[in-house]
Amino acid sequence: MNIKDIDKKYIAPTYNRFPVVAQSGKGSVITDDRGRQYIDMGSGIGVTAFGIADPVWLDAVTKQAATLQHASNLYYTEPCVKLAELLCKKTGMKKVFFSNSGAEANECAIKAARKYAQDKYGKKRHVIATLTGSFHGRTLTTLAATGQDKFHKLFTPLTDGFVSFNAGCIDELEKINKDGTLAAVMIECIQGEGGVVPLGKDFVKALYEYCVKNDVLLIADEVQTGNGRTGELYAYMNFGIKPDIVSTAKGLAGGLPMGATMLGEKCENVFSFGDHGSTFGGNPVCAAAAISIIERLDEKLLQSVKDKSTYAFLSLENGKGIEAVTGMGLMIGIKTVKPAGEVIEECMKRGVLCLAAKDKVRLLPALNIDDGLFKKAIETIKRVCAE
Ligand SMILES: *Cc1c(COP(=O)(O)O)cnc(C)c1O
Repeated sequence: MNIKDIDKKYIAPTYNRFPVVAQSGKGSVITDDRGRQYIDMGSGIGVTAFGIADPVWLDAVTKQAATLQHASNLYYTEPCVKLAELLCKKTGMKKVFFSNSGAEANECAIKAARKYAQDKYGKKRHVIATLTGSFHGRTLTTLAATGQDKFHKLFTPLTDGFVSFNAGCIDELEKINKDGTLAAVMIECIQGEGGVVPLGKDFVKALYEYCVKNDVLLIADEVQTGNGRTGELYAYMNFGIKPDIVSTAKGLAGGLPMGATMLGEKCENVFSFGDHGSTFGGNPVCAAAAISIIERLDEKLLQSVKDKSTYAFLSLENGKGIEAVTGMGLMIGIKTVKPAGEVIEECMKRGVLCLAAKDKVRLLPALNIDDGLFKKAIETIKRVCAE
């Protein structure tokens, strides 16, 4: 049997995979089981931040794996402590909790916000507001947080205490909080799964001011937008706000599973011993990998992300068969005249791997994608849209 048949027989059918067996790669090129090469414009959904088998990342990972691959959180380990220090120094956040995925990073953010609000104001202040069209994860609690009805029906009852409101509508938030029950608001500055939709800067500013005024915590879900993706270290930095909690994952460890929840001044001491935990959280190999990524996200690298982004937007906007280009940095959504699925399929046939987000073609290439490959991929996408 071939890989696809064995997958069909033994893997729970939750994924509608593209017909590609990803076997190996280097940088932004993926090779399939027949030796066919593709330009990778998705980087494993924004995960392989510096591409496949990046030498600096690989060196950090292999050295740490050969030294100590795991110790548990019963003991101190150097990589996780160093990574927490690095993240706090670069963001001004105060403390970090490490986990293994975006959903877990959001779960921790929600727990921290509820604990903060209830310690200070009592049990009734526990509501978390999120935005319509948002995506925050697949656990029962982060599904409840996800502001898309289609995710809600399948597995009820979900965790209580979540409400969604429309971006741009502070008045809806005021209504939600009319009895003072609001603990936190959680946002993606650019909605990823929701279709690469950036929030309005004025709305984000107004939301931030509302939160400060009412001592409601602002949580930035930076699982997809974080770690250099938008041309800033974290996307909130484009919006002139300071969230109380920042969650991240995807690109953080460049291809190994890791989530992080960063806690600001208000809630840095909200957790005590035993309040939260994770067996794998802060794993030394993942942490060493993440250090090798975060250390390199300096001004020069971030500027190169912005430059590549400018090139892509200029090239794609007004392209034939393209209705709109959205996003920021190397998080790009393309609204095409043809159905996005058709464009993606045709690009794949021509050796370019793209992602979808709702009705858009979505690009999340490695931050250091080679200029020549990037231009070639953009040209291919343009041509397919125009035909
Ligand atoms: C991918 C994603 C998540 C979920 O991350 P997992 O690692 O799949 O649990 C949560 N929030 C956002 C914004 C995401 O893009």
